Amino acid sequence: MIEKDDWRLNFQEDYLMEKTLYLRKWTSPAKDWDHDHCAFCWDKFSDYPDTLHEGYTTENLRHWICPTCYNDFKEMFRWKVVDKK
Ligand SMILES: [Zn+2]
Repeated sequence: MIEKDDWRLNFQEDYLMEKTLYLRKWTSPAKDWDHDHCAFCWDKFSDYPDTLHEGYTTENLRHWICPTCYNDFKEMFRWKVVDKK
């Protein structure tokens, strides 16, 4: 059970509460943009080895959440996941 004082929590409820998320493969959104970070634990998403390549993202692809944090916080944030085929 995740506590409200979990070190990864940092006002994400302002922009991630009750959002719809999409399970996506990370791809670079722009030429000079080579990585993103998990909104909670700051793990890295990129095309490089030893980083995350897939995670949960908001529709505008601005926020990424790693699978671990997704599982830890999904009840607290009441996310809805859409499986885009
Ligand atoms: Zn994370």
